[in-house]
Amino acid sequence: MEYRRMGKTGLQLSVLSFGSWVTFHKQIDDYVADELMGIAYDQGVNFFDNAEVYALGESEKMMGRVLKNKNWDRTSYIVSSKAFWGWRGKSNKPNQTGLSRKHLTEACHEALQRLQQDYLDIFFCHRPDKNVPIEEVVWTMNVLIQQGKILYWGTSEWSGVEIMEAHRVAHQYSLIGPAVEQPQYNLFERNKMENEFLMVFRTEGMGTTIWSPLASGLLSGKYNIGISEGSRFALSGFDWLKDRWMKEHLLEKVKQLNDLASNLGISLPQLSIAWCIKNPNVTTAILGATKKEQLLENLKSLDAVPKLNDEVLQQMEDIVQTKPVLPEH
Ligand code: NDP
Repeated sequence: MEYRRMGKTGLQLSVLSFGSWVTFHKQIDDYVADELMGIAYDQGVNFFDNAEVYALGESEKMMGRVLKNKNWDRTSYIVSSKAFWGWRGKSNKPNQTGLSRKHLTEACHEALQRLQQDYLDIFFCHRPDKNVPIEEVVWTMNVLIQQGKILYWGTSEWSGVEIMEAHRVAHQYSLIGPAVEQPQYNLFERNKMENEFLMVFRTEGMGTTIWSPLASGLLSGKYNIGISEGSRFALSGFDWLKDRWMKEHLLEKVKQLNDLASNLGISLPQLSIAWCIKNPNVTTAILGATKKEQLLENLKSLDAVPKLNDEVLQQMEDIVQTKPVLPEH
């Protein structure tokens, strides 16, 4: 396993990590979660990602049970949670969602209980909250750090401007600013990582824990032969995700990427994940898996990175044609 420092911080994250969105509680039970986290940990994965909203709190509870059962040395792994949507779904009342001091503080306490942890290594603002002053967010996160309940804080799917506003406030009051952003990043979703955030990387040295490296499974290639039962796009409540990705022009590109991967002697998931971590601004790519075969295959992506030479990268660009166009001079 390779480890990368998270932005300007001292924290070292495994370049491949493991998350629980959709899968924990909705698709897999404690037994499989235990098996998958065990495989990941044994191969050097040290970061496990979670959020209050995943399976409405049940995902954190499941991960908490697994961590308790594993009894790994607490100093050997990093666990995160995220606040924004609350965990009560349609029953959420005012103050049970968003980024107010009240919700961030209570969400942190509740996540610690569900995960059975004394502290979170990383606590994310899952989305920006336009209704809360950025000063309130930064002060709250700073206080949670001072209280020892969280060690680092980050953002997820914030704009470059919103992240820089947080840094402006942090600099102004000598507070600890966001150290890490969690954006989507894969061969079909590139603008934030390869355009919008470039100046933030340069000025603030932000780490990134990127999500959906396989575009929810599209970049495994399996959807080119239809939507099989039990797969993510077949789940009820996820039509929006299926509609987002199951597009003819994308499936055609996936087919061509698959041919390229075969020629290189690697699988398409390995090619796609290796491509993500080839970007030095990626601290870690969070993997998702419902089966141990998937995870074992995806963890081998590290071995595929050296195969992505300039020629291969250009062939990939020619296929996907998603590279953000930046002004030249
Ligand atoms: P991926 O894009 O890698 O999708 C993972 C899913 O694809 C698996 O659950 C599985 O689904 C399928 N899959 C994975 N590997 C293979 C394989 N080798 N062959 C066939 N199918 C495969 O990542 P996720 O979308 O799961 O995101 C990863 C993590 O990122 C999440 O767990 C979460 O922690 C984080 N995240 C954060 C978000 C945010 O807003 N901050 C949003 C979304 C995710 P199946 O078997 O069901 O088809």
